Amino acid sequence: MLEMETEFRRLPGVDKILASERLVRLAETYPHSLLVDLARKQLEYERRSIAGGRAASSLDKIVAAIVSRVQVLESPGLRPVVNATGVILHTNLGRAPLSGEAVAAMEAVARGYSNLEFDLDSGARGSRQVHIESLLCQLTGAEAALVVNNNASAVLLGLTALARRKEVIVSRGQAVEIGGGFRIPDVMRQSGARLVEVGTTNCTYINDFEQAISPRTAALMRVHSSNFRLMGFTSEVSLEDLVALAERNDLLVLDDLGSGCFLDTTGFGLAAEPMVPQSVALGAGLVFFSGDKLVGGPQAGIIVGKQQFVAKLRKHPLARAVRIDKVRLAGLAATLVHYLKGEATTKIPVWRMISAPRAEIEQRVERWALAARGMARVIEGETMIGGGSLPGGTLPTGLVALGGQQGRNTAQVLGRKLRARQVPVIGRISEDVLLLDPRSVLPEEDEVVIQALRDLAAVVK
Ligand SMILES: *Cc1c(COP(=O)(O)O)cnc(C)c1O
Repeated sequence: MLEMETEFRRLPGVDKILASERLVRLAETYPHSLLVDLARKQLEYERRSIAGGRAASSLDKIVAAIVSRVQVLESPGLRPVVNATGVILHTNLGRAPLSGEAVAAMEAVARGYSNLEFDLDSGARGSRQVHIESLLCQLTGAEAALVVNNNASAVLLGLTALARRKEVIVSRGQAVEIGGGFRIPDVMRQSGARLVEVGTTNCTYINDFEQAISPRTAALMRVHSSNFRLMGFTSEVSLEDLVALAERNDLLVLDDLGSGCFLDTTGFGLAAEPMVPQSVALGAGLVFFSGDKLVGGPQAGIIVGKQQFVAKLRKHPLARAVRIDKVRLAGLAATLVHYLKGEATTKIPVWRMISAPRAEIEQRVERWALAARGMARVIEGETMIGGGSLPGGTLPTGLVALGGQQGRNTAQVLGRKLRARQVPVIGRISEDVLLLDPRSVLPEEDEVVIQALRDLAAVVK
């Protein structure tokens, strides 16, 4: 007990800490009040540590701990990484990288004021949606459009505004969990709509929908299965049949496409991903999709469809709660213009990655492997699209394979070394081998990867 008292007494006072050379230098950049606060927090930590039976730290150690507290606070936690995982739309790595034009549009709007909700003709208040609605209508063939924070909030808004206290019929095979907490039954409950599941896990027929229709039914809903695929003995109801049934019963069809897409994926050797204009043409009342999946723009939830329904969503109080900000609105519009101009595959990064020819990938993977010297092998592999689009769909690619031998330099160790760099390079581990895929890396970032591999080869050897 006495010893502990002695240790407590050995702790320096706040003034003595602040008088140390390193903190005097920090005080040139940071306010006195911040340093006092951090010094107090560090002393509090020291007291707990002494109470736990440890000895008091030296003044130097205490000062060093305060300096590192400042460093942690000032260094932005969120920073760029290189996505060499081979998953193009990697939700944990921020989904879609943006085109130069989208970034420029976002910067221009971020730097100053804009006519976000201001009609330049009349000088009166306007709507932030007018900047993008006609573009979306042109691209999709829809009568009306609305953009909100993300697709999860778009679906929630749609169900709340149109189906609250009513029933929505969904195939049992589509009452899915997308990941990150988005589960159709939960979203339905949150909206106040009642989910009526019909059919079986693998087979649902139009009759199942027909028999479930009641006076309380508001809508028939289709949900993209996103991250899983039904195989074998299966049957799903087509959107055409759903629309025909809805029309006979004066009901609405809601179509949650998840990713949504403006280009035909079969042209790139992929399975067919549902395209937004198709859903509109087939007569869906509202179509929901993400801005940052295969559209390749910033995070957004896009709703297109019939004017009467979009108008109800627009007026709902929830629309205000889930509204999109001006910066992303500008980036999304600039991204959509690439489709309008027919230049998506050369301008939008995710489509550049998808459409990159095999020969170009081979060339890059060879350069990467060369940088790693004897450490790397080049193997054939597959790039995943990710982002809940094209479940199971992949593109052929070449991979740099590292590690795999026993001993110190396991795939885990190499992976950690690459992640610890100033610009972290993220790969994926499969069967104890670290794999790096150039297809999910922007060609502009090749030099970063090459330097990382050179350094790795130098330290690991
Ligand atoms: C991804 C996805 C969502 C959620 O979209 P966010 O833009 O991530 O909010 C909703 N529904 C489906 C079918 C999806 O695939």
